[in-house]
Parts: sequence; C-alpha cells; structure tokens
Amino acid sequence: MTPKEAVSFVTENDAEILSVRFTDLMGTWQQFSVPVAHFGEDKFEDGYAFDGSSIRGFQSINESDMLLMPDADTLFMDPFTEVPTAVIICDITDPLTGQRYGKDPRYTAEKAEQYLKSTGIGDTIYIGPEAEFFVFDEMMFENGTQGAGYKLDSQEAWWNSGKEGNSGFTVKPKGGYYPAAPVDKLHDLRTQMALHMQNIGINVEMHHHEVAVAQCEIDMRFDTLKKMADQLMKYKYVVKQTAFQNGMIATFMPKPLFGDNGSGMHCHQSIWKNGEPTFYDEAGYAGLSETARWYIGGLLKHAPALLAFCAPTTNSYRRLVPGYEAPINLMYSARNRSACVRIPMVSKSPKAKRVEFRAPDPMANPYLAFAALMMAGIDGIQNRIEPPKPLDKDLYELPPLERAGIQQTPGSLRATLHALMEDQEFLLRGDVFTKEQIDSYIEYKLVNECDAVDLRPHPYEFNLYADA
Ligand code: GLU
Ligand code: MG
Ligand code: MG
Repeated sequence: MTPKEAVSFVTENDAEILSVRFTDLMGTWQQFSVPVAHFGEDKFEDGYAFDGSSIRGFQSINESDMLLMPDADTLFMDPFTEVPTAVIICDITDPLTGQRYGKDPRYTAEKAEQYLKSTGIGDTIYIGPEAEFFVFDEMMFENGTQGAGYKLDSQEAWWNSGKEGNSGFTVKPKGGYYPAAPVDKLHDLRTQMALHMQNIGINVEMHHHEVAVAQCEIDMRFDTLKKMADQLMKYKYVVKQTAFQNGMIATFMPKPLFGDNGSGMHCHQSIWKNGEPTFYDEAGYAGLSETARWYIGGLLKHAPALLAFCAPTTNSYRRLVPGYEAPINLMYSARNRSACVRIPMVSKSPKAKRVEFRAPDPMANPYLAFAALMMAGIDGIQNRIEPPKPLDKDLYELPPLERAGIQQTPGSLRATLHALMEDQEFLLRGDVFTKEQIDSYIEYKLVNECDAVDLRPHPYEFNLYADA
C-alpha cells in the first residue's frame, strides 16, 4: 500500500480512529489512538511523537522523545472495536537524527533480512511458527476454579489419585490431541479466531485442540521473517481478544498447568536463493543439504544463548523438561520430538524441506527470536559448524550413560541470560542486534523477572515446608 492508498483505506472503511502500534523489547504490542482527522499522507513522513521513557527497556528519561513512523503495508481494520478502528504498525525513529531506533525489534527483523542478502547465502528466509496457547474461563484467574470444561484445582488430585472421577466429555491431561466435540469444547472459539485472522490478512491453514487440557493451536502459512513477526503479533492479539470477548482468558504462558503439556512455538525455517530452496539434498540425512546441516549446527551451538530470546520467561523452563514433547536435548533428528531440532518428513518436495526448532515458546518477541535464530543458522553455515550426529531414538528414554553425552537446554531463564552475555557476537554482525539492545534486554529480564520470581516464596514451598 502507498501512503495515498492507506488514507483511502481508512476512509473507505469509515474508520473513526487510528490505533498506532509498535512492539516493545519484550514483545508486547503498545498503542495509542488518534482521530482519523490527524491521519494523512504527511504522517508517513512526519510520524507520531511519543515518550519512549515509559516503555520498558527503551529510552532513559533524559532522551525520551521518539517518533513512530507508520508502515502503510501493515494497515488493517480492528475486528474487535465497536467504533470502526484502523490499526497501523510503526517503526521507531529518533526525531533529532531521523535515524532508526536501535532497540526497535522490528528494525532488528528488517536488518536480519538485509544481512541474509549481504552474506550471499540466500535472499529469503521463511519462518513458520506454531504458537500454542491455553484458554481458561475468566474465573480461573480470579479464584483458580474453572478451565474450559475443566477444573484446575482438581488436576493435581486427578494425577495423584489415579481416579478419573466424573470426566464425561472432558479432555483428560495429555488427552487433547485431537478428539471431536463434545470433548473439544473450544472448536467454535478457535473458528471465530481463525476467521478474524483471515479477515485481517493472515493465511490460516488449520486449527485444532492440542495435547493438554484447554490447549489450542492455530496454524498459519509460513512467510518471510519480518512479515511473519508482524503476523504473530496480530495472531496473539486476535487469540486474546476473541477469548476475552467470549468471557475467557487466552494465555501464551508456556507452562500454566503442572503435569500436562506446555505451549511451544516451534519455528520452521528455510532459506531460499533466487527462488530455489537451499535446504534440500536427496542424498543427505533426512533430505538435508550441507547448508541445512550447518544451519542446524549453528542453532544447536548457540541454543543456550538463543533461548534468552526464544524461551524468554522463568515459566519457559517449567516447559523444557522431559516427558511433555518439549525438547531438552541439543540434538537433531528426523522424527524425534524430544530433540531440539526436528526435520519434518511430511513431503518429498524439495520446497518443503525445512528445519523445525522446537525450543521456542510463544512468549518470545517474534522479531527478536526469528532474527536470532537466523543469525545462529548463518553463523553455522559460514563456519561450517557440524551438529552432533542425529539420533532417531526417543531421547527421553535413553539409558543414563548414553544421555550423559548429550548437551541439554539450560535449566532457567537466568542461565540462558548468562549464556547470552557470553555468546552474542553472532547477533551483532551486520549490526542486526545492537549491544545496547541486548544489554537492556538482559538487564530487564534479570531484575524484573528472574529476581522478582526468585525473591518470592513459591506456593509449593508451603506444601513442602510449612508444617514440617
Ligand atoms: N506442546 C508441545 C511443546 O511444548 C508440542 C506439541 C507438538 O508437537 O505440537 O513443544
Ligand atoms: Mg502443536
Ligand atoms: Mg511442531
């Protein structure tokens, strides 16, 4: 869309207000709204001013003025507002210098795509994220009683007693993949979500109940890196808003329930050059080219640091444990869901050849996570990093001695942030990430998440110790 077309789009859709959005460092959409009278072609040059000092991880108070520059290609009508509202996603610049802002995640994604071209390895990277989420009744958040067709406080009792109780037409823990209604009570809700997504330009391929109780997945067709990050922001918005309008709460928290699967965001990735896929070779293990194998080598080598962006919450490390289809082994394999990197064997077509990195979860800032994954993969290709030999066994079941040789994902957010402190040079190449951006990110996470959680007594500690 040109700026002129963007203005016509707003008029034709009778929008009365424009929601001006950008993504903060942690991956949350921020917005303010302006009457459409203050939207015109000039805004694509002049931007909208805002105070960056109150946005977590951004500017300090003495240099807080920033500009949001709307991106005409991102305009869409908000499906959820009573008053017709247009939404536009923005890039962030410094009003004094006119330079793009180094901590803007969207800029990082853009620079990552340029960097790929500059290496000559390829001109396009496709990303296909599978973001899972849970849907709970609002009440659960108030008093911990109800999930969708499911009682939260009875879950632990269910596991402990071995009895099922009255479980007619309910999804049992780990039993959600994928019974039809009436067991699946979220079908209509997911359909509403999928239709909203389609209406705002997302290509939805399918939706289904996921393995855990009250867990869902809606799959989008893959797209290029920055575009897919934009889409994931829209995806999360639609999921949360549709649930909210139905009196439910959707959460992308990776592990809300003890004893059941968590929510991942597996990221399928492939690099193309001149319209041809570069990841396929008939002769390679699982049909992988050398390029793809080295890409995997890069992902696995940098995985501990990558997880700071890809599994970015303290709760993420309650998901990355054995037994729940979440990966813990820094390995690759054609079929194995317990390996960090899996090669889906769903098609013989060279175009479908891709690498699935399973460690990420949907709390990731998609701009930063996708860019970081690609930078690790490129480092692998440039330095011909060989991954450890593929293992097709169930890695959860390996005898302890065999398992001992396999490197594992870090056990905590703090550990992965420390890994990122040590291993970040690969991200700084081509100025894709900036040092200041990474430092702010680490500092924010350490203080506001790691320390904040560690300082609080855990509910289960009362169970263990209160009357001991
Ligand atoms: N929910 C699982 C995870 O945490 C993945 C299940 C699947 O393979 O789709 O990664
Ligand atoms: Mg899934
Ligand atoms: Mg998957």
